[in-house]
Amino acid sequence: MAIATVNPATGETLKTFDALNAGEIEDHLVRADQAFQEHRTTSFGYRKERMLAAADLLDADQDGIARTMTTEMGKPLAQARAEAAKCAKTMRWYAHHAEELLADEHPDPADVSDSGAIRAVVRYRPLGPVLAVMPWNFPLWQVVRFAAPALMAGNTGLLKHASNVPQTALYLEELFRRAGFPEGCFQTLLIGSGAVEDILRDPRVVAATLTGSEPAGRAVASTAGDEVKKTVLELGGSDPFIVLPSADLDKAVRVGVTARVQNNGQSCIAAKRFLVHQDVHDAFAERFTARMAALTVGDPMDEHTDIGPLSSEQGRSDLEELVDDAVHRGATALCGGRRPPEHGAGWFYEPTVLSGITDGMRIHREEAFGPVATLYRVADLDEAVRLANDTPFGLGSNAWTRDPDEQQRLARDVQAGGVFFNGMTASHPGIPFGGVKRSGYGRELSGHGIREFCNMTTLWYG
Ligand code: NDP
Repeated sequence: MAIATVNPATGETLKTFDALNAGEIEDHLVRADQAFQEHRTTSFGYRKERMLAAADLLDADQDGIARTMTTEMGKPLAQARAEAAKCAKTMRWYAHHAEELLADEHPDPADVSDSGAIRAVVRYRPLGPVLAVMPWNFPLWQVVRFAAPALMAGNTGLLKHASNVPQTALYLEELFRRAGFPEGCFQTLLIGSGAVEDILRDPRVVAATLTGSEPAGRAVASTAGDEVKKTVLELGGSDPFIVLPSADLDKAVRVGVTARVQNNGQSCIAAKRFLVHQDVHDAFAERFTARMAALTVGDPMDEHTDIGPLSSEQGRSDLEELVDDAVHRGATALCGGRRPPEHGAGWFYEPTVLSGITDGMRIHREEAFGPVATLYRVADLDEAVRLANDTPFGLGSNAWTRDPDEQQRLARDVQAGGVFFNGMTASHPGIPFGGVKRSGYGRELSGHGIREFCNMTTLWYG
C-alpha cells in the first residue's frame, strides 16, 4: 500500500511519501534506544511538564489537525475536532496520574517475612522502545492512548501508522518534539507493513502494541511471540446492542444510531448487532430505521454532514460484499444497502439497516466496518445472551435494561471486555479498554494500560 494522503471524499491523491530505507530505519532505532537510556531516568515531574505542553499545543492546533484527519480518512470534521480534544484530555490525565499509578507497592512485611525479607517493594520500571502499529480510523486517538502512558512511564515510542494517514503520523512526532520531549522519544516511521517484522525482531525494540485487523494482529503477535516480546492487541469488534422491554426506547434508538454510525461506522466499538426483545422489536425497528435513513451523507468538511465517505475504496467494497451476501441469502434492507447515487467519486455508502439475519450470512460473524446495522428479534434474555456471544469477537457490548437482575445476568454472561448499560460504549482515560476472544488481549488506558509496558520489578531486601 502506497504511503499517501488520498482524499476519500473525492478519490484524489493529494500527497505521496517515500518509505524510509534501511539506513534511515536504523537511524530511528539508534535514536529510540539512546533516547530511552536518558528518558527512563527522568522524573515524573519532567515528563509531566512536557506532556502538559503537548496537550496545550494540541488544543491550539485543534482545527488544523482535525482538517488533516478529515482529509486523510474522511471522518466528519466535528468528530475530528472532538477526537483531538479527547487526546489532549488524555495527555493531561496521564500527566497528572502517572506518578500515582506507577507508585511503588509495599507488600505487608508480615506477609513476606517468611521469605527472609525484611521488606519487599514492587516497582514499575519502563521497558524500552515500544513499537506501535496503528490504524487510520482514529488516527490521533489510537496513537495518543498508547503514547501518553508510554512516555509518562519512561518508555520511548516508534509509530508505524497506517499508510493512508502519513500527515497525521508526522504531526504526532512533531507535536511531542515541540512539547520538549528529546529527540528519539517519539518517532514516526514512514514504512509499509512489510517492514514491521524486521523492526520487531530488532533487539532494541522490546514490545509492540497493535490496533487493527485480526490478520495484522496475528502477524505482529506471531513475530513478537517468536522473539518473546510482550504485545497488546486491540483488534476488531462486532459489539451487540441489546434492547430489553424496560429500556428507555427513545434514548436507546437515539444512542443506537450514534453508536452505529460514529466515525462513518468505522469504529471497533461501534454497536453493530442490534438484538431487540420481541416486545419492543417493531417499535425499535421502525424508529431506528427512520433515524438511520434521515442521516445526511456527504462532504465530511461540511458541518451538517453526519456520515462521510469510507476511508478507502477497498473498505467500501468489503462492506458491499458483506451486505450483498446477506441480501443474497435472504436478509432485507430496511434502508440503504447501496452507494448513494449523488456522490460519484468518493467512497460513500448509505446508512443501512438489515433484518432477517441468519447464521449462514457472513455479516453474522464478520465485522461490518461502515454504517451498516444488523437487526435481530430475540424472544427473551437467554436468546439475547446466546446471540451476543455468537461471534468470534469480544470487545465492547451495550445493554439497555433498567432491571438490576437482568443487568447482573448480562454482567456475568456477556463475553466482552466491557458491558455498558443504558449508554454507548466509549473509551475514557480512567477506564480500562480492551477485549477478549478474537478482539485481542491486554488493556489500554487507566492504570492497567500504563502498566502493560512496565517491568514490574520485585525489590527484595534481606
Ligand atoms: P489493518 O489491520 O490492515 O491496518 C492496521 C495497521 O496494521 C496499519 O498500520 C497497517 O499498515 C498495519 N498492518 C497491516 N498488516 C500488517 C502486517 N501483516 N504486519 C504488520 N502490520 C500490518 O486494517 P485495514 O485498514 O486493512 O482494515 C481492515 C479491517 O480491519 C477493517 O475493515 C476492520 O474490520 C479492521 N480494523 C479494525 C480497527 C479497529 O479499530 N479495531 C481499525 C482498522 C481496521 P498499512 O496501512 O501500511 O497496511
